[in-house]
Amino acid sequence: MNKLWYDKIRNIEPYIPGEQPENKNIIKLNTNESPFPPSERVKKVFKEFNTDNLRLYPSFKCESLKEIICNKYNLKENQLFIGNGSDEVLAFCFMAFFNSDKNILFPDITYSFYDVWCNLFNINYKKIPVNSNFEIDEKDYFIQNGGIVIANPNAPTGLYMELDKIEQIIQKNRDVIILIDEAYIDFGSKSSLELINKYDNIVVIHTFSKSRCLAGIRIGYAMANEELINILESVKNSFNSYTINSVSQIAAAECAKDIEYFEICINKIINEREKTIKRLDKLGFKTLPSKTNFIFTTNPNLNIKELFDYLKSKNIIVRYFNKERINQYLRITIGTNEQMNILIEEIENFLNLH
Ligand SMILES: *Cc1c(COP(=O)(O)O)cnc(C)c1O
Repeated sequence: MNKLWYDKIRNIEPYIPGEQPENKNIIKLNTNESPFPPSERVKKVFKEFNTDNLRLYPSFKCESLKEIICNKYNLKENQLFIGNGSDEVLAFCFMAFFNSDKNILFPDITYSFYDVWCNLFNINYKKIPVNSNFEIDEKDYFIQNGGIVIANPNAPTGLYMELDKIEQIIQKNRDVIILIDEAYIDFGSKSSLELINKYDNIVVIHTFSKSRCLAGIRIGYAMANEELINILESVKNSFNSYTINSVSQIAAAECAKDIEYFEICINKIINEREKTIKRLDKLGFKTLPSKTNFIFTTNPNLNIKELFDYLKSKNIIVRYFNKERINQYLRITIGTNEQMNILIEEIENFLNLH
């Protein structure tokens, strides 16, 4: 390097998000967004929004949105922290809670943003291999550490870890903070939320991006005991007080009120997911049991990267990770019934060519 300033700057290898193509004719099954539009109540917010209000800073306490989420989960106002997408909430958690020389622990196959935050904030970490079925073994976490992060259900595997195992991890690690990233919890599994009143060292994180059809709004939140939430607020207010814009606050609040539409969307996704797994099964694929809005699938008779490229040439984008252990798998977001029909058709075409 011949740049004189090079050794004084922060060099970091960033997280690589799934692509967001401008071409709208694409079947986009690569970033686990909802295939359904948000609630009609959200549409109404945008129709009626008074732009004069944009002259003011947004509320930094997010009172109205907080009230709705607290009512839903039976939380006190100071047991909830809201952020600009759960990625931001998670980043604040890493910054706030992982300040030890010991390694923080997370699975080797999990959300690939965790390593990036560790590198950004100079946190030591150790990845614990999941077993050959891609399952997390709770006993692997009964070791000295500086904190633990578990995505439950896990991504990109889609596998859910039962709550009694999560609780065992907590019980063996009362001296560190444990983050449970529940980005996909609404797609048919039980949340760890009840444990925040029982243990003072667990933080549960949710998002509006997947099950609530609002990835574009950027809202996520953390739930924990008052003390941990206070620490998160302090870290946030040491970085940027107004993290959530005024439109997002109102839109998310309206979205959260529409429980009926939320349940319709969830049920459609779950039905489509189970149907897709069966159809892939008939085509020789092996798919992990999923509790999310995506599936993680492989086919021992195929070169998966070739299938990925073929689908892309047909304007269907799924996710392929060129990483050890998972480079023979595709992660496919569950779309609408029409989208999944086209996907299966194209997979059949590919199989006929091979
Ligand atoms: C999608 C996802 C997130 C991030 O969600 P945002 O709220 O959109 O930032 C966090 N964790 C996992 C495991 C995810 O898959």
